[in-house]
Amino acid sequence: MPRPISAHISWSAMRHNLLAVRRHLDSPRVAADRARPHVWAVIKANAYGHGILNAVQGFAAADGLAMLDLNEAVRCREAGWSGPILLLEGFFEPADIPVLDQHRISITVHCAEQLDMLEQASVGRPLDAMVKLDSGMNRLGFQPAEYRPAYGRALALQQRGVLGALGRMTHFARADDDAQATARQIAVFDEAARGLPGSASLCNSAATLTDGLWARCVAAGEQWVRPGICLYGATPFDERPAAGLGLRPVMTLRSRLISAHVLPAGAGVGYGYTYTAPHDTRVGVVACGYADGYPRHAATGTPVCVGGVMTRTLGRVSMDMLAVDLDPVPHAEVGTEVVLWGEGGPPVDDVARASGTVGYELLCALAPRVPVHIERD
Ligand SMILES: *Cc1c(COP(=O)(O)O)cnc(C)c1O
Repeated sequence: MPRPISAHISWSAMRHNLLAVRRHLDSPRVAADRARPHVWAVIKANAYGHGILNAVQGFAAADGLAMLDLNEAVRCREAGWSGPILLLEGFFEPADIPVLDQHRISITVHCAEQLDMLEQASVGRPLDAMVKLDSGMNRLGFQPAEYRPAYGRALALQQRGVLGALGRMTHFARADDDAQATARQIAVFDEAARGLPGSASLCNSAATLTDGLWARCVAAGEQWVRPGICLYGATPFDERPAAGLGLRPVMTLRSRLISAHVLPAGAGVGYGYTYTAPHDTRVGVVACGYADGYPRHAATGTPVCVGGVMTRTLGRVSMDMLAVDLDPVPHAEVGTEVVLWGEGGPPVDDVARASGTVGYELLCALAPRVPVHIERD
């Protein structure tokens, strides 16, 4: 028998979260005269660990799919996705361009070197492109003073039939925690991109889920939001849990107890004895460790659900196992089901917080050795 650990991916939760995003965008607090933005479902990093093919199914109703990896984009086409695909970092070398052309993949253009490569290229069909402004993230994108000239080069490439539809794009650094920093980025975008033709794309999950923010981003015209993490049922915010945002977890990580015993008062459990029992404590051992993608830094007290009861981890997480407190779960025994995160267990965000990280990292880090079960309902 294989180890009892498994990850479960729910297509219905994916559909639910996409609908929840659209409901946020439609919120009556938003100007009713504005067309609701289109949604790029962000599926980079193997759909945040959930699998590209699941994303193509679960987000079938999205307006487009956005990711980083050309191979993942081609896999979406091979899986039958015929809608728009956007590569958020664009392309990396001239040899990528024929592949983009063949599979009708749209690109982000964020640096002059990419424009140089496009100026040397010929294509069968024009490539749609988003020209990226660095409005304050200070990562990718043209600086505000370079933006208009870069956009001019893109428009010239459009004239030559190398580029097709153009759009303006930027990315927020602090949409989850600093409204003023975001407002400053919007002002930089407005100034740099004013009057340029084409659609606009600014909002990640945090901005998309901030009431009415998208409507303040561009005065008019077609807008595309780019939610990622919220579509998987995790929160982009420190203080706003996913359930309160109307989201459902897409990934549930399950395992079972493979041992249960009493840890006598004063004894330690696991490497380093980072937990010692203050009194005789019933301890369960779960078939799940950091080699499965569970965070090694999860501290004693990290929430975990055993036999339907919320309890906590004890001591250090090992490569293949972790220990849990069975005092609140007297009926637990070998074989009892454990939910590490997801439906029927703690939110992945709570496990992440107890480990000093974010839900994004835990979802992306699910290990290849964990069997994945797809819930197609
Ligand atoms: C990852 C990413 C997103 C989505 O971010 P979330 O916080 O997961 O919503 C949007 N845009 C760009 C450019 C990204 O890299």
